[in-house]
Amino acid sequence: MYSCMLSFDVEDWFQVENLKAGIDRSSWDSRELRVERNMDRILQILSDHQTRATFFVLGWIARRCPALIKRIAQQGHEIASHGQDHYLLGELSPEAFYNDITSSTALLEDLTGQKMNGFRAPSFSITDWAIPLLKKAGFLYDSSYFYNPYHSRYGKLTVPPQPSGQRSGIIPLQEKFYEVALPSLSFMGGVIPWGGGGYFRLYPFRIFCAGVKRILKERGDFLFYMHPWEIDPGQPRISGIKKSYAFRHYYGLSKAEGKLSRLLGQFSFVPIQTVLEERMTNVQ
Ligand SMILES: [Zn+2]
Repeated sequence: MYSCMLSFDVEDWFQVENLKAGIDRSSWDSRELRVERNMDRILQILSDHQTRATFFVLGWIARRCPALIKRIAQQGHEIASHGQDHYLLGELSPEAFYNDITSSTALLEDLTGQKMNGFRAPSFSITDWAIPLLKKAGFLYDSSYFYNPYHSRYGKLTVPPQPSGQRSGIIPLQEKFYEVALPSLSFMGGVIPWGGGGYFRLYPFRIFCAGVKRILKERGDFLFYMHPWEIDPGQPRISGIKKSYAFRHYYGLSKAEGKLSRLLGQFSFVPIQTVLEERMTNVQ
């Protein structure tokens, strides 16, 4: 029985929402592409630990680095979609969103030969109207719901109440469609995000692992996420960003690669699809 799921959002440092105030979208093409080098380091760490993962690939990256996406797929990893141009769902009409996911899916399926089953919304900006469109486009799951009352940008999704009372893990949303939600830890009546990313860079390693163990004990599964730019302390520094955003983006970059490697040594991870298939077989 597998229970720890590993995921990466494949995008570059200049596409991150926290840096938006200092980086205009129109400048993306002239920015230094660092994703390929960072991804190769991640692929090496995964290979060293004989671990496979799910990669939510941005269509924009797939267009510019097709060989990278093929390389990830050839190494046995699951390729999934992170949309085309990293627009938050609230910035798109339902029609524009549908065009975005169908065009990026066609590109990724063409490159990898894999069917796209999973989707993750940019900055976890999922919203209720997107679910039937994802199902219509052929997806089997969304992995964007991150219950966090302190983060205004994260999306809002109506999820059915779970027997455990928690709002993370694999949640059936519709017939043959699932939400694979990011985990949080309940603590002193509150909720602390515990899925990875900036939270993983911020929390001391041992404390993070203790939280993972507690989540596994309470609900039986855990989902981790990270971005290739998070292991890149040499990335260009952008000024003119709100202090809290700059902190979220730049904190702990130099230690993140080592921490990721240690995490893979502590827990046994698999792609999301592996756990989902197992769960669906048990349900039938
Ligand atoms: Zn993203």
